[in-house]
Amino acid sequence: MIAMLETPPLRGELRLAEPMGRHTSWRAGGPAGRLYRPADAADLAAFLAGLPEEEPLLWVGLGSNLLVRDGGFRGTVVLTQGRLTAMQCLGSVRLRAEAGAACAKVARFAAHQGLCGVEFLAGIPGTLGGALAMNAGAFGGETWQRVEAVETLDRGGRVHLRLPGDFRIGYREVRGTPDEWFLSATLALEPGDTQAAQARIRSLLERRAQTQPTSQASCGSVFRNPTGDHAARLIEAAGLKGSCIGGACVSSKHANFIVNTGTASAADIERLIERVRETVERVSGIRLCPEVHIVGEVD
Ligand SMILES: Cc1cc2nc3c(=O)[nH]c(=O)nc-3n(C[C@H](O)[C@H](O)[C@H](O)COP(=O)(O)OP(=O)(O)OC[C@H]3O[C@@H](n4cnc5c(N)ncnc54)[C@H](O)[C@@H]3O)c2cc1C
Repeated sequence: MIAMLETPPLRGELRLAEPMGRHTSWRAGGPAGRLYRPADAADLAAFLAGLPEEEPLLWVGLGSNLLVRDGGFRGTVVLTQGRLTAMQCLGSVRLRAEAGAACAKVARFAAHQGLCGVEFLAGIPGTLGGALAMNAGAFGGETWQRVEAVETLDRGGRVHLRLPGDFRIGYREVRGTPDEWFLSATLALEPGDTQAAQARIRSLLERRAQTQPTSQASCGSVFRNPTGDHAARLIEAAGLKGSCIGGACVSSKHANFIVNTGTASAADIERLIERVRETVERVSGIRLCPEVHIVGEVD
């Protein structure tokens, strides 16, 4: 069901009981009680300010690192996908982008402007907001290596300027002030050559296509790499490549990917995640830690 909000100041789109399988790259998961797609940052601030204080909130970008259980999310999802997408250069080596901008677009925009340092973002199929929340990275680059400052939005719709020192930033993990979400980031880049940056983007995308099941529904790497090892190696060594539960299978191309072959429920995926964890622990003694965020209620 789709409804336009009637309160005059709000210009976004509100959906009720919206299936989250439509907004996650695993293409599985139950409904969000309410989903709001803001018109812009001011509209989102007004929307948040009008919510009850205790309303559970989940921000979603492209849903490429998210498993919403089949019972859905009882609360409000803020969907930035396709919204908050502005990007601009600030001076000669800085770039400001809003949280809903796709990582690939940020990488291409920077390259086009002759700015280097975020080519690795080209293959990450999420938004900049999701990359900030996850400290997404690839091929040696990490999002927060390039962050000079971020703007966050709190529950009351107030904007805050935060610096990297305000966060605990780790491998695929970022902790900051609770109940604040990313609205935009200013990235500090290096002057470079557009053609060289574009060539680097092409080569990183080719390497990805060779090693990852990019045409199947997945959430990328399911588990973080343990120190000094690779989750994919441990999963393969435990004989789990190709192992399936329902429509969810451990990819035969990249063992740290779980793919939805078309009919997987979120429960199939979560059960397979558990099977992989338990089997790897039994075989190698290492307990893998999921990188993907799992939210919502069991059906
Ligand atoms: C094929 C494939 C390849 C991938 N390769 C990589 C890779 O190489 N490297 C890598 O790091 N990841 C990779 N990923 C995982 C994923 O793309 C990244 O984690 C990405 O940064 C998630 O962005 P998103 O917008 O999709 O976030 P979502 O999945 O929508 O959300 C992820 C988390 O971030 C939170 N969040 C989202 N937006 C905001 C916001 N504005 N403010 C605060 N919190 C927010 C959500 O609440 C959630 O907890 C891959 C995924 C796929 C499907």
